[in-house]
Amino acid sequence: MSVVAPNVAGPGPGMTEDLERLRADFPILRTRIRGKPLVYFDNAATTQKPRSVIDMERRYYEEWNANIHRGVHWLSEKATHEYEHARDTVCAFLNARSRKEIIYTRGTTEAINLVAQSFARPRLRPGDEVLITAMEHHSNIVPWQMVCQLTGARLRVVPITDDGELVAGEFERSLNERTRIAAIVHVSNALGTINPVRHMVAAAHARDVPVLLDGAQAVAHMPVDVQALDCDFYAFSGHKIFGPTGTGVLYGREELLENMPPYQGGGDMIRTVSFENTTYADLPAKFEAGTPNIAGGIGLGAAIDYVQTVGLQRMAAHEHELLRYATARAREVPGLRVIGQAREKAAVLSFLLNDIHPHDVGTILDSEGIAIRTGHHCAMPIMTRYKIPATARASFAFYNTREEVDRLFVALEIARKVFTR
Ligand code: PMP
Repeated sequence: MSVVAPNVAGPGPGMTEDLERLRADFPILRTRIRGKPLVYFDNAATTQKPRSVIDMERRYYEEWNANIHRGVHWLSEKATHEYEHARDTVCAFLNARSRKEIIYTRGTTEAINLVAQSFARPRLRPGDEVLITAMEHHSNIVPWQMVCQLTGARLRVVPITDDGELVAGEFERSLNERTRIAAIVHVSNALGTINPVRHMVAAAHARDVPVLLDGAQAVAHMPVDVQALDCDFYAFSGHKIFGPTGTGVLYGREELLENMPPYQGGGDMIRTVSFENTTYADLPAKFEAGTPNIAGGIGLGAAIDYVQTVGLQRMAAHEHELLRYATARAREVPGLRVIGQAREKAAVLSFLLNDIHPHDVGTILDSEGIAIRTGHHCAMPIMTRYKIPATARASFAFYNTREEVDRLFVALEIARKVFTR
């Protein structure tokens, strides 16, 4: 694929010296909001897109636009080639064994629904259990509740501590002969907790329980190797890794996917169709009914190329440093309470400021050009666990700077003064 090379020097030990050049890859970061330079701290909701991704989507529409697969004309072959090449890029990125294990979806949500409906639903019987944790996103709760309602199975939830870690040993203790699948968030979007998923997969496998990992918040912040993790399914969204919205991936172990029925029916997922009988296409097409987000899929490939050029280790180190700095600054703010203080944490700072409603904090920050998220972060059970309605959440990406963190704390001081008059 002809990738528009990102404007970077390539992986190296630190990134501070490259930061300005890297930021220049993201056109939106030059935006001014209400006359002030944008500080974008809503990366857990969605990340910004580098020029190479935007250019790749534009190129598809300007130069290659055609429907993929089965086309005999040049454009269709070119579009197919680029789309399938992006699948190879994803396959290598996750270190999957085969491209057959990479299913394109609309995002993490659709990937989890696919596994819930196609893998779990036919296997669940009344009294069986689906094991999740108390820090799941709604996307990794509701699809399981839906199949539980249909089958008579029940949802079992591993509790968390006040710091936002899984209660030690509870996951292992909750696995039993009735557990049919465990679905675990790799990195919590509301708390930042990084779960010990490799260990959890091993514990589940020791009891023959397959594991799905929700990697929505992990893939853009740490290297993910599905073989090393030994997970059975891994789901992520393109838009959280600097790629287009409406794209995502389900990695599934080939032997499991082979034995699962299609999730949706339609074009592209069939081998033969008659009114009496339909036979299905091989993997991965079996799970990809209908015309997909072709531009998005190609753009996702460009996003992963970009991430690999910058280097995930380097990104993670920089974000970790930002989180460490922001957490230290947060401790100095009177009345600021950090929600989620796990020992292993990704770049998410969820907090409450005195008794000011997080939406009010968000509004003051917005007037200073700072974008954070406020609310329940699609994790209402976490809010219930902490007996709070919402949090304010600043979430960092590798393109954020220490100066931006300083601006956040200046703005928080303004909020504190406005609301404690
Ligand atoms: N899981 C987690 C941990 C998330 O953070 C998100 C998005 N906030 C999702 C699942 C759902 O992702 P999407 O909306 O892209 O399908």
